[in-house]
Amino acid sequence: PLVLGIETSCDETGVALVRGDDLLVDTTASSMDEHARFGGIIPEVASRAHLEAMIPTIQQAIGEADVDLSEVDAIAVTAGPGLVGPLTIGASAAKALAIGLGKPLYGVNHVIGHACVDQLVHGAFPDRVMALVVSGGHSSLLLVDDVATDVTELGSTLDDAAGEAFDKVGRLLGLPYPGGPHIDRLAREGDPTAIRFPRGLTAAKDQAKHAADFSFSGLKTAVARWVENEQDAGRPIPVADIAASFAEAVVDVLTAKTIAACRRHDVGTLVIGGGFSANSQLRAKAAERCAEAGIDLRIPPIRYCTDNGAMIAALGSAVVRAGVAPSALDIGVDSSMPLTTVSV
Ligand code: ATP
Ligand code: FE
Ligand code: MG
Repeated sequence: PLVLGIETSCDETGVALVRGDDLLVDTTASSMDEHARFGGIIPEVASRAHLEAMIPTIQQAIGEADVDLSEVDAIAVTAGPGLVGPLTIGASAAKALAIGLGKPLYGVNHVIGHACVDQLVHGAFPDRVMALVVSGGHSSLLLVDDVATDVTELGSTLDDAAGEAFDKVGRLLGLPYPGGPHIDRLAREGDPTAIRFPRGLTAAKDQAKHAADFSFSGLKTAVARWVENEQDAGRPIPVADIAASFAEAVVDVLTAKTIAACRRHDVGTLVIGGGFSANSQLRAKAAERCAEAGIDLRIPPIRYCTDNGAMIAALGSAVVRAGVAPSALDIGVDSSMPLTTVSV
């Protein structure tokens, strides 16, 4: 089936066309430039930008793929999680297309889309995979038995997401928003062993209840305290070493806990997705540790890690092929859609 996917959960307006597991086109318009000067996403600003970009982005995708809208078999759209205003713009456009074309609508989960997009790049998932989705809003470990119908949430962050922690430490170090990519760049020049920052939820006492959960807010506070201390002592701030040591603490915990979960559940394939999977420290550490553990690692190229329409079209395509019933045309959007709900 030919599936048109629409993504508007945050600041990217994404539209893509997928046939089976083949990506025909992936078009994105971003309003990040407008948000950067506020140091964060302003939902009202993002909603208006989606409203203005929606039809031109759909037209561009259709034009580039050289297909006619009448050839589309189904419309997939992000139903959550995300920002309610932005989600509503995408859902409204998808409903209008579904009713206008007389084609089924599928409201799907953004976070599961972040994992599913890898199927477009590396082919269909094996029977059972572990998915680590790390982004601006999530750090979640998912056991995926069928990406269209059967996803179990093993754990998640108890406080900040990995990308969020990077953005907050970026702000602390005076870097532009979003800080994640800036810390990544600085960390490459620093010494990851310069400062020993804490590893959240790795103590023996946390293993029973929080084996697959993460916590990064204590780490963020530790970085803030360390910087304050140096400033008070009148010493220069070694920004690259802080970035490298902080990144090391985050990716050490993410990879160690994820690989332990793969072992516990006897899963041989790990998929990493979400905006933070663009991070080069995570990519390197995951590759090293998966090789040691004999785990097959799949991470999509960076352009499919951050928010895009391809991830939603890919998940829509999987859901259609699984024979799942379409969504009702009166579905709402859910800012905190559970990660076990693949489609609504
Ligand atoms: P969610 O998917 O949970 O709804 P989101 O859509 O806002 O959240 P994404 O767009 O998937 O998040 O990811 C954005 C996050 O990824 C930001 O926090 C950003 O700083 C981070 N990020 C992007 N590239 C890098 C990088 N190279 N290193 C570290 N962080 C990065
Ligand atoms: Fe996202
Ligand atoms: Mg984004």
